[in-house]
Amino acid sequence: MSEQTADASGAVRVTACRGCGCDDLTGVIDLGMQSACDHFPPLDDPADDPRWPLGLVLCGRCALLQLDHDSPAPEEPLAVESATLQAHARDASRRLLERIEAPAGLRVREFSSHHGGSWLGALTEAGCRPVDSDAQLVIDNHSIIHAEALEPEFAERVAALADDGLLAIEFHHALAQLEQGQFDTVRHGHPLYFSLHSWAAACRRHGLSVVDAWTEDVFGGCLVVLARRGEHEPSKAAQQILDSERRARATSPEGYRDFAAHAATTVAALREHVRQARAAGRTVAAYGAGSKAVTMLGVAGLTAEDLPLVADLGPGKQGRRIPGAGIAIVSPEELIAAAPDDVIILTWDIAPEVVAQLRRGGLTDARFYVPLPTFAQVS
Ligand SMILES: [Zn+2]
Repeated sequence: MSEQTADASGAVRVTACRGCGCDDLTGVIDLGMQSACDHFPPLDDPADDPRWPLGLVLCGRCALLQLDHDSPAPEEPLAVESATLQAHARDASRRLLERIEAPAGLRVREFSSHHGGSWLGALTEAGCRPVDSDAQLVIDNHSIIHAEALEPEFAERVAALADDGLLAIEFHHALAQLEQGQFDTVRHGHPLYFSLHSWAAACRRHGLSVVDAWTEDVFGGCLVVLARRGEHEPSKAAQQILDSERRARATSPEGYRDFAAHAATTVAALREHVRQARAAGRTVAAYGAGSKAVTMLGVAGLTAEDLPLVADLGPGKQGRRIPGAGIAIVSPEELIAAAPDDVIILTWDIAPEVVAQLRRGGLTDARFYVPLPTFAQVS
């Protein structure tokens, strides 16, 4: 019999690290019972949206930050890539090829995110050759973070790698998450949150070493990490990132002491803004029905009464509602037609793009706000 037990929602608490397997797990944030971030029911669906416990624990041995419960089964993605993300796929893959001085015809295998954002088109255009095995470059593009258990999926990537091949990964950097209080990146279906320390530990367990790493600006702060078989020293750039993580204590529970407090301050500021705006007769709407919105609105406890609509570019989401919060998802054109006085940009990582798009569309007098890194007016 397993010692794992399900709670009333059917969720099973994680008792061993999803990476190294040790049981030294410390809670760093508890976000309460939250809906699945990729399940957007039709607006007229009256069903209660199921909720599961959502929180993070940190492993005391390998420093892997991870969800504290097993996630509900993921749904089909409905997202449309923003212009920012499409440009990122092109630019980031070009930087990667330059950094590794890739020869023509490089054999490449991508493990892509089910949220889109594939780099394979850009790599193929640059002369790389897609293969299934013996790849000189294996790319994990926000893919392995969706694994409930790290080890089998890591082994799959290593198996696709040529002897002298490079394993490259891009993930949202736990250090950015910690330093900017990005609690809304915590969500069901995304069990793993890496620092360079915890990724390096995973590499060591599979006979690889980190050789290089650099930051990328998307999603509020990402890291690209290169690793290869054998024992190697990290580059100076990778060493500096390891040092930054150590200084911020991103590898120990003490470093996360203010993380939960920052989240509480953020949602309190968001709620208070909506309350005051409504009391003053201003109308408030939101932009960005991504997975971040589900966590932010769910933790803030905001509903359709507070925010009647949230706009999103994805046609697959329009006519649906934010799970839990019940807020209608509309097109950007419908948001502009509703002419709200205030717009809360839940996709704060692409706020400049959103402001430009909505101002151009006609929201010339609206005020724009972001919840993170601190609740603030941005335009
Ligand atoms: Zn661990």
